[in-house]
Amino acid sequence: MFESDVIIIGAGAAGLAAARDLQKAGLYVRLLEARDRLGGRIWTRRTESDPVPVELGAEFVHGKPDSTFRILKAAEIETVKSAGKRLLFDGRELRPQPDFWEIIERVNSQIEPKPDIAYSEFLTNAKASGSEKKMSRSYVEGFNAARAELISAPAIRIADEAAAEIEGDKQFLIPAGYSALIDWLACTFDKEALHLETEVRQVKWERGGVTVTAEAGLGMCHFSAPRVLITVPIGVLRASPGQRGAIVFDPPISAKLAAAGSLEMGHVVRLTCRFRESFWNAFKPLGFTTSSGAAVPTWWSREALGSHTLVGWAGGPAAERLLSGSESEITRLALTSLSSMFNVSESRLNELLISVGYHNWSADPYSRGAYSYPRIGGIDAARILSLPMDDTLFFAGEATDANGHGGTVHGALESGERAAGEIVGSCRQAM
Ligand SMILES: Cc1cc2nc3c(=O)[nH]c(=O)nc-3n(C[C@H](O)[C@H](O)[C@H](O)COP(=O)(O)OP(=O)(O)OC[C@H]3O[C@@H](n4cnc5c(N)ncnc54)[C@H](O)[C@@H]3O)c2cc1C
Repeated sequence: MFESDVIIIGAGAAGLAAARDLQKAGLYVRLLEARDRLGGRIWTRRTESDPVPVELGAEFVHGKPDSTFRILKAAEIETVKSAGKRLLFDGRELRPQPDFWEIIERVNSQIEPKPDIAYSEFLTNAKASGSEKKMSRSYVEGFNAARAELISAPAIRIADEAAAEIEGDKQFLIPAGYSALIDWLACTFDKEALHLETEVRQVKWERGGVTVTAEAGLGMCHFSAPRVLITVPIGVLRASPGQRGAIVFDPPISAKLAAAGSLEMGHVVRLTCRFRESFWNAFKPLGFTTSSGAAVPTWWSREALGSHTLVGWAGGPAAERLLSGSESEITRLALTSLSSMFNVSESRLNELLISVGYHNWSADPYSRGAYSYPRIGGIDAARILSLPMDDTLFFAGEATDANGHGGTVHGALESGERAAGEIVGSCRQAM
């Protein structure tokens, strides 16, 4: 009666990890993806003119998460440790900052599990100097793509503890590009069962049966299965009916939307700037380099991959200030930031600049932001979001990670594997 055992909505890291496990368990899976490509917020741009692949989304493997390294190992995908000096621009010059992690740890280790307060409120009473608080705030906002007034301080504590367990202070790059991981996850997938450019509009469901309506090309199509796995980002889950990408659930899934409302979609501007030469030679190896007053406040190099490339990053409020601008306006502000930090004229930087890789994830209807973070009071939201409904609706995606790894690729992969396990268990029980 059903044409597949499971429908998966979204072919990002979570959807593909789930699809792989479900196929291995012998289930027939149909994968519906709105974009014309796989990977979602993992998107490596490979062009003939770029010697090194350009990441438009995720770039780092944060620490040594088993979920990611298991795949990288099986796929024989090489990783390179990203290393370099951490520098701070003090308004006059760039200075090494060897005690950066010590300061962040000292400040954030003061976060108590309760009460659930905003990070900004926690900072007000934290024992730290003004400059240490400023540094911690800028780090938390940049890394979590969050507003300090909104993000839950205890959630940061949970994420810090989770990161410590996987050596989260180490960062790894994938020379072949992050999409190599996506390609490997998808390589055994039955192409007949993969539907790209298929935007899901409606999920009509009752216990044991789902009909998914999607727009593909010029027409609407319908898919049915006893179970569906939803992996779309929370920005999409929360989109109003009629907006691109929005999915109408019939009957509604109010508890899930309430949980999604306790999470926030963070914003990021990430620019990959390739230059003719490394004008930052004097500072090599260049690690994370910050200027809190700059429009694009954080920079790092991809020199571990042998390229003259700098990545500029603005997360949280810094990104929100930039996002209304066009790509060329943002690029201009990025070069102004670099010019003052590295004391190189803007005209020289313009001469040296070969290409810029940028994607506006906040304006992208299928992501509606960069990645999620828990708001005050949202510490349990990811767990609630992850719970299956009536053995019929299942949920995965980075925002459903309840183990402190939300907002990451490994969090997304783990959520996909977790959901696949739930679905297989539910199928066995039904037999
Ligand atoms: C700029 C940027 C930098 C990042 N850097 C890092 C990093 O260095 N390290 C790290 O670990 N993480 C990083 N992340 C976060 C990481 O990319 C994500 O957490 C992860 O890729 C999310 O995977 P997912 O499967 O949960 O969601 P997604 O990858 O968003 O997959 C969901 C899929 O659902 C599809 N979809 C949406 N709506 C519909 C619809 N209506 N119908 C059908 N399909 C739909 C989307 O097109 C998408 O393909 C970064 C993210 C961004 C944006």
